[in-house]
Amino acid sequence: MTCKEAEQMVMPYINDGLTDKELSAFLDHIYECTSCYEELEIYYTLYAGLSQLDGENEEQDMHNLLQEALHMSEMRVRRRRAFNAYYVLSQVLAMLALAVIMIMEIIR
Ligand SMILES: [Zn+2]
Repeated sequence: MTCKEAEQMVMPYINDGLTDKELSAFLDHIYECTSCYEELEIYYTLYAGLSQLDGENEEQDMHNLLQEALHMSEMRVRRRRAFNAYYVLSQVLAMLALAVIMIMEIIR
């Protein structure tokens, strides 16, 4: 992912509008690219600051808010990856079981 692509995903990220695939690519870039991370931090802090004008969560540290949001996003991506791995594994096991049955039929 290029920085330009990442920049275009900042607002969708904040509004929770990215697909799992986009989110995964976005996070990978954010963790490796300091300038994009800083950009996200600025927007996120602004956005979080605006949504806090109603007085809720006044005590919360803005920096922690982004860290928390990134952590949640990461969990979401990881859960998805774990699910995919489980799906692939179950497919492989089904194929193996089928192969064993066929071999048993042949050698009988
Ligand atoms: Zn970048």
